[in-house]
Amino acid sequence: MSTHTHDHDHDHDHTTFQPDIKDPSQEWEFLEIALRELLIEKQILSAREIADEMEAWERKSPEAGARVVARAWCDDGFRQRLLADANSAVAELGVEIESVELIAVENTADLHHMVVCTLCSCYPRGLLGVPPLWYKSFEYRSRAVREPRAVLAEFGTELADSVEVRVLDSTADCRHLVIPARPAGTEGLSEDALAALVGRDSLIGTALARAPHGEA
Ligand code: FE
Repeated sequence: MSTHTHDHDHDHDHTTFQPDIKDPSQEWEFLEIALRELLIEKQILSAREIADEMEAWERKSPEAGARVVARAWCDDGFRQRLLADANSAVAELGVEIESVELIAVENTADLHHMVVCTLCSCYPRGLLGVPPLWYKSFEYRSRAVREPRAVLAEFGTELADSVEVRVLDSTADCRHLVIPARPAGTEGLSEDALAALVGRDSLIGTALARAPHGEA
């Protein structure tokens, strides 16, 4: 976009920078385009800066969340700091989560947490990257609360009846990170090897951490 100072004559080419929205039809889509164009027009951000920032967010991945979990499994002091103040604890590993509260919860042999955003798609992107499509689906958002065990089973996660299932609802102000239970037989593994067992879904709570070496 050029840096014009004349009145807004709307000569933008809407097709050049609309990575997600082809035909805006909803209010938020119009708002997004309007805000983006204003930021560019007022020279607060350039189109390139916006695109770079979007790229940076798309590069984030659940590996950051897996590193956090592996550290918590190996270092009890870190685990306790994570449970007490997750924003500060993840900052120790270089992950900055600002403006929303991050809450870490632990899955154990008796208690299983699973995260949903029933309203929309709130998700700890700084730790887990871009949310999967199913997380944003109406079906997951409604069924996770109504029938969490059935949803878990569809993810291949079968829990004993004795395990309590708690569904945590994310909000605009608060995001959750699930610390999956550490699998048996991982006592001698390095932190990196442990992190490789922590998949994205286990950080949302729809799966367990993987067993080492393909064990069941
Ligand atoms: Fe949301």
